[in-house]
Parts: sequence; C-alpha cells; structure tokens
Amino acid sequence: ELKAILSQQEDCKEQQNSKAWDGTDFPWTPALEKILRSVFKLNSLRPMQRQTMNATLSKQDCLLIMPTGGGKSLCFQLPALVDKGLTLVVSPLVSLMEDQQMALEHLGVPSAMLNAATSKGDLMRIQDDMVKPNGELRILYVTPEKLAKSKRFMNRLEKCYAVGHLARIVIDEVHCCSQWGHDFRPDYKFLGIMKRQFPGAPILGLTATATIKVLEDVKKILSIPKSLLFKASFNRPNLYYEVYEKPSTQKDFMDELYRLISRRFSGQSGIIYCFSRKDSEEVTSDLQSRGVKAGCYHADVDAASRSRVHRMWLSGEIKIVVATVAFGMGIDKPDVRFVIHHSLSKSMENLYQESGRAGRDDQRSDCIVFYRLADVARQSSMVFTEMTGLQNLHGIVRYCIDVSSCRRSLIAHHFGEMWDSSHCNNMCDHCDKSRNKGSIEKKDVSKYCVDVLSILRAAADTDQRMTTAKLVDAWYGRGAASLKVKSVAVPPFSKETAERVLAHMLIHDYLQEDFHFTAYSTICYIVPGSKAKLLQNNSAKILMDFQVKTAKKASVDVPNNSSAVSSPSATKPLISGDSSALSVSKRTPSSASK
Ligand code: ADP
Ligand code: MG
Ligand code: ZN
Repeated sequence: ELKAILSQQEDCKEQQNSKAWDGTDFPWTPALEKILRSVFKLNSLRPMQRQTMNATLSKQDCLLIMPTGGGKSLCFQLPALVDKGLTLVVSPLVSLMEDQQMALEHLGVPSAMLNAATSKGDLMRIQDDMVKPNGELRILYVTPEKLAKSKRFMNRLEKCYAVGHLARIVIDEVHCCSQWGHDFRPDYKFLGIMKRQFPGAPILGLTATATIKVLEDVKKILSIPKSLLFKASFNRPNLYYEVYEKPSTQKDFMDELYRLISRRFSGQSGIIYCFSRKDSEEVTSDLQSRGVKAGCYHADVDAASRSRVHRMWLSGEIKIVVATVAFGMGIDKPDVRFVIHHSLSKSMENLYQESGRAGRDDQRSDCIVFYRLADVARQSSMVFTEMTGLQNLHGIVRYCIDVSSCRRSLIAHHFGEMWDSSHCNNMCDHCDKSRNKGSIEKKDVSKYCVDVLSILRAAADTDQRMTTAKLVDAWYGRGAASLKVKSVAVPPFSKETAERVLAHMLIHDYLQEDFHFTAYSTICYIVPGSKAKLLQNNSAKILMDFQVKTAKKASVDVPNNSSAVSSPSATKPLISGDSSALSVSKRTPSSASK
C-alpha cells in the first residue's frame, strides 16, 4: 500500500513536471525547432522529448524513463547542438555507441567515441579538443570503464569543465547504477563522483526500465536528490493486444494462422515472430505453399537474402516476414498492421518491444500471442542461464494465462506504471465489449494441484523424470503405465485447463523447473516447487479465475478495419478456463482431453 501511495505521489509530481517543462517559449526554442528539422530531418517531437530537452538546457538534473524505441537519444543529441560546449555521454555498450556515432556522423554532427580500442592518435586529438573553449566536438561517447580507470581522461574532463566547456553529462541505461536493477554494472558506481566533481554540469539519466526502488537508488548513487523525473507512457493506444490458445497440432495451428493472415489481415503487412530458426523456416515454407508472400529472416540467413527480405517487405512486395528476434534493430516500417507471436516471447519486455513494431503510424494494429504450455518449457531451457531469465519468463506466462485482466494493465504493471483499465478503450481481448465473454469466477483448484504433486512424488520415488507433457498424460491416465498414479482421478476439465493449472502452479512456485543437460540440448523437467509443502499440508489454497460461460467458438477470419481504432468483430475464444467443466465431475479421459 505504501508503495502504491508513493507511486501515486510520484505520478503527481511527474504530471506537474511534464506541464511545467512543456513550454515553447524558452530562449532556445527557435534554435531547437530549427535543428530538429535541418539536422535531424524530423518534423515533431515525441512525448516527453521537449520536456527533457528544456529541463536539461535549463541545467536541471533529470531522469527520463521512456520505452525502448521511444527516442531517448534525441533528448541529448539535439540539446548538444543547441548550446555550446561538450556533451559527455556514458553508455555501457560499445556497439550501441558505435551505432549512434555512425548515425551522427551521417547527419554531420561532430562526435567521437572513446573506448579501449581507441588509437593513441585519436585519443590525443580528442583530449586536446576537449579542453579548448571553442572545441569542435559536441558529443563524446565513453564507456564507464574509461571514466573509472583513466586518470588522465578525468584530468582532461576537469580541465574541460574548468574552461566552461562541459555542457552536460548524459548517462544512458542509467539503471545500471543500481544493484536492484536487472543489469547492474560495477563501473557505473563510479559515476557517483560526477556531481561532486562537476556540480555545474547537469546530469541527464536515460533508461527504459525503472521501478521506484531503482530510481531512488539511482538518485542516491548519482547524488542528484532533486533530479526531475520525466516518464513517457508505455501505453500504445492504437495497439490491440490479445492472446490465443495455440492449437496443439502443427496442422491445426498453421490452418488457423493462415486463416488469420488471409482473411483478417488480408493484404496487410506484418511480422510473425518465431521461437527458433527452424520454426521460422517451417512457418515460412508452409505459408508460401499456401500462396502467401512471406519471407524468412533469422541469424543464419545470409546477409544478402536478409536484406532482400527486408527491402521487399518495406516496399510491400512481400507482406509478411517470418522471423526470429534477430529481426528487430532498425525496423522503421510505419504501417506494420500486425505482429503475431508464434510462441510466447521470453519476457514482457521482449513482448512489448517486439509487438511494439506494429502501428508506428498510429493506426490500429494487432498484437497477438499464441500461447501454449509446451512453449514455456522450450523458452525456459533457453533463458534459465540468464540471471532473471526464469523470473522474466514467468512474468509473460502470467500475462498469457490471465483470463480477465486488461492486457494493458498487465503491461503497465510490469513497467511500474499506474493504470486505469477504463483507458484501454476496448483495445484488448479482455476489455473488448464486442466479445462474448462469460463472467469471471474464482474457483478453488487446490485438490487438483495436490493430485499433480502426488504424480510428481510417485515419479520421483521411482527415479523418473517428468516433463509437463508427460505430467499431463499421467494426469489423464495415459502414457507410460509407470507414471500413472491410481489414487489420482482423471481431471474433470479439458487438457487446456489442466495446462493452465500447471502454469499457474509454476509461476506461483508450487512447481518449478529442473534442468538436465544432454550433449545436444537442455531438457526442462518439472518438480515440486518451494511452496509445494504448503499445499500438501493444507496451509495453502489455490484459487484461479475461470470464465463461467465457455466462450462460444467463433472464427478468426473476419477482416479487420485497419484504418480505424475499433474492435475486431469476431475472434476466437482466448485462453479461457472452462469452468463449466470444473463442476462436471464425470468425464472419461478421452472426452476430457478432446
Ligand atoms: P531509445 O534510445 O529510446 O530506445 P532511440 O533514441 O534509439 O530510442 O530512437 C529510436 C528511433 O526513434 C530512432 O530511429 C529515432 O530516429 C526515432 N526518433 C526519435 N525521436 C523522434 C521524433 N521526434 N520523431 C520521429 N522519430 C524519432
Ligand atoms: Mg537508447
Ligand atoms: Zn484492456
């Protein structure tokens, strides 16, 4: 609760800040507008860019939180040309700096980069320029290591400041300062001395991810307690979010996918993101065999074919790119009408970014995830080596198996944004009033979960390992005889519901993954989780949301009206818990598993 109040106060402050700094009557406004057009060839600023630029040009310390792709770089690149002096940019990744610097060079902006690979000659030239009151260099990128480790460079920076030439200090990916963030970099701690060394140079921190805890930490570490905070919303009002239950056979799935793109998205451009290179190739050739103009894009496709696919897609010669996440950087096609996830992404962040490539032109566009439990295991054996990989994956599983919440509220919550679901405007499968949804009821599924744990215990007793697929089979009395448990009844609901119960148990720690390695792959088995004991001794109950009425099966093949922000007139039932089945106690295994 305290957290909610604090975050409400923060929101209030942000709104005030946003109003106060939105002005177009600052002394630099004319220059700013002119450079925006003449140098950057852009027509207008995006939300929060003006506020940030005005604040930093007024020498205020500030932090900007903006989703990836929102346009954070412009917030320092443009001011760097508005005022005299040098803008120092600290960035954690050399590749990011290289990309930016190349783009700047292209625009004719004097910039440079210092890292471990910088030649001695370049270093000398740059360091000489820095201390000249009329130095030419406007933007200098450095790694935090360079700052922390090179005394000589710090000396130069002090001189630069002393001659009044240091305009501001920009810290990109500023959450890296905080150990609470997902990406802590020890060298970022060193940046704490910047404010003391250069009190007159405003600090501008940029990030896409920041919870209140991280932000408070960042302010403390950088010694900028009074820093302004600007936050661009993560909400993309023109994107319609939905989740489909993925058909269990490849054939059914492809039929459904084909129906979608040949009817609802007929003639429209889109992206289909796949989990693996193999998946993307299979989907591409299946679609091509059905006459769809689709191209394939992943890291193993040779560079020439990749750029041909990209080019043909940009020009509209092919409508669909079937790709892995390798298809991402630098995609700027405005009229992407749909992004379909063939399998769930590895995190909410990824989902947001990948689906965010739709609708850059602000026209209504659709973001669809096909969800199935089997894909969770595939993802988890890829991401479990990352520090917060499983935690992130469970975050998106929560999004996928939710049967009632506004998808926007789930996204906003993930990014620590306050959200009122009435703002969704019917633009997600759960808010859309044109859909036939039953009402939501909470049901106690504890006894089924106890059954699941009994099956796992029996398997462990006989030294057998369970995948989720085997677990479901054993639950329905199918599969290997040795894995079945007599005392466990066949569940009185569909296999889809059974899978949803398992996913729920997984993300709430009643179950957990157990990884085993073979020479060629990692296998994800499933075992009781840290909270399993609570369930077995009756000190926990598991309640899950179900739709009371089974949504009627409608077709997905209604063309959508891409030019208007309106709801699609028909859709397939989403991940619906078929609660009606929950109360039906007699079902044979075969009828229960469809
Ligand atoms: P971020 O760092 O927030 O992820 P970038 O600074 O890399 O985002 O910008 C993402 C893209 O948005 C770039 O292609 C950039 O040119 C573009 N962009 C930024 N500001 C604007 C603007 N005001 N109008 C149009 N495009 C913009
Ligand atoms: Mg950036
Ligand atoms: Zn909604």
